[in-house]
Amino acid sequence: MSDQKNFHPLAVEKIGSELALAWSDGSESFIPLEMLRQRCPCASCAGEPDVTGHVVTPKPVRGPGCFDLLSWQTVGGYAIQPRWGDSHASGIYSYRLLKELGG
Ligand SMILES: [Zn+2]
Repeated sequence: MSDQKNFHPLAVEKIGSELALAWSDGSESFIPLEMLRQRCPCASCAGEPDVTGHVVTPKPVRGPGCFDLLSWQTVGGYAIQPRWGDSHASGIYSYRLLKELGG
């Protein structure tokens, strides 16, 4: 990708049970909400390396409505932070990760 620096979504939309993104390079991604939540990159869901670099994966925090995407906001021009139905909202998904999840 030659224009990596300016790579960003032109449009983000929730369509049914998927998050649809139209990217600045003309491509599109459709990410099932369930997969999106399962790949939540926050420390409580994905874990953090301890002092030895070993990543302990915690039991993911999931409550009722955890796969319902209520809203989202863009963060720092490089990521999207979704808010879920169980009020979990600490996952910050970089555009790169979203693109990867959307195939
Ligand atoms: Zn999380």
